Amino acid sequence: MNTKLKRESLCVQAGWEPQKGESRIVPIVQSTTFKYETSEQMAQLFDLEASGYFYTRLQNPTNEAVASKITALEGGVAGMLTSSGQAACFYSIMNICSAGDHFVSSSAIYGGSSNLFAVTLAKMGVEVTFIDQDADEMEINKAFRPNTKLLFAETISNPAVKVLDIEKFARIAHQNGVPLIVDNTFATPINCRPFEWGADIVIHSTTKYMDGHAASLGGAIIDSGNFDWEQYADKFSGLTQPDESYHGLIYTKAFGQKAYITKATVQLMRDLGSTQSPQNAFLLNIGLETLHLRMPRHCENALKVAEFLQQDRRVAWLRYPDLKNDPAYKLAQKYLPNGSCGVLCFGLKGGRDIAIRFMDKLKLAAIVTHVADARTSVLHPASHTHRQLSEEQLLKAGVHPDLIRFSTGIEHSDDIIDDIKQALDAASPQ
Ligand SMILES: *Cc1c(COP(=O)(O)O)cnc(C)c1O
Repeated sequence: MNTKLKRESLCVQAGWEPQKGESRIVPIVQSTTFKYETSEQMAQLFDLEASGYFYTRLQNPTNEAVASKITALEGGVAGMLTSSGQAACFYSIMNICSAGDHFVSSSAIYGGSSNLFAVTLAKMGVEVTFIDQDADEMEINKAFRPNTKLLFAETISNPAVKVLDIEKFARIAHQNGVPLIVDNTFATPINCRPFEWGADIVIHSTTKYMDGHAASLGGAIIDSGNFDWEQYADKFSGLTQPDESYHGLIYTKAFGQKAYITKATVQLMRDLGSTQSPQNAFLLNIGLETLHLRMPRHCENALKVAEFLQQDRRVAWLRYPDLKNDPAYKLAQKYLPNGSCGVLCFGLKGGRDIAIRFMDKLKLAAIVTHVADARTSVLHPASHTHRQLSEEQLLKAGVHPDLIRFSTGIEHSDDIIDDIKQALDAASPQ
């Protein structure tokens, strides 16, 4: 595929190039296994001496086509799908960390990632230090240690919609000899390609805008191929030293720029098995075909909603990066010039109780544990996705107890705003 094509064309066509008489759209290869002629052919696959499909836990043609499309959209060199965004996040870290290691993460991240880092990874002996992503470089540098393996952040944070200064983060990571991993779920490669600003690895919850219809869970990991693992060979020994589970194969020597994704596939996916089902990958691909049409509409609608909320006296505060008076506006103009995303957050005067009353009165916007799909939806993170965090942890993650996360869909903006108006009137009469 010509990866010089514009993003719009890649959304529609990348990843699957049918030959004569083959299915025009990506077929669902619903098979756990693949046939070979000789035992020797199969043995070569197991030794990674030949490439080919042999078991869907490792690779499947449908998944590979869809992973290639996302890789092309991000401008990377290799990519893989996972069963969920959580699995992508977990694998992206455990591919280079093991017990005794440490990493640095922005505190403004998704609640699920924050749990994974602070609780589950800690049990596995991997320690995290959370930092304020808006702090200056000197301050953030202090969090790094000799055993630090990576820096992690979200392009646009869920749910606080802070915008990451990607260049600053890439500089900090590289000065400390580690890669920058960016969760690009909310921006999508339509609005931002973190590799163009120095990020090394990008992950996604494809469950959100990429699928776009709340139909299937999924995740993706994409590598830019730019991080030089061999320059820090001792630090990244999993990539640069022999893997005894493959007869002493060395990933960086055998696979070059594809070392990181190959290791994540043949080692982590082999052993942990968070494979995306080909059926879900097929649905994800249909979502991707319209991503470039949906994202501008999400942004346009969200800006109209933000402008409406901004002038209503019952709104205590509001964050949307495309508003001129938003603290993230300057960063958004730099990294997301065509719009940020459809998600905004705000608080109502009267706090948490009014917030809950307002949400209960919404009709078109549904209360769902979801965000970033075609239907407008709303959630109260302090009661739902982030309910495990203490008040102090909530504030650190940029989640005020009264924060309403509003995910603007692609319905007509007049209808979305009318719904907000009637719910506000019912919850908090003027
Ligand atoms: C939803 C989300 C995840 C987790 O993805 P799942 O597909 O739900 O596992 C990770 N990061 C961000 C930014 C998210 O919004």
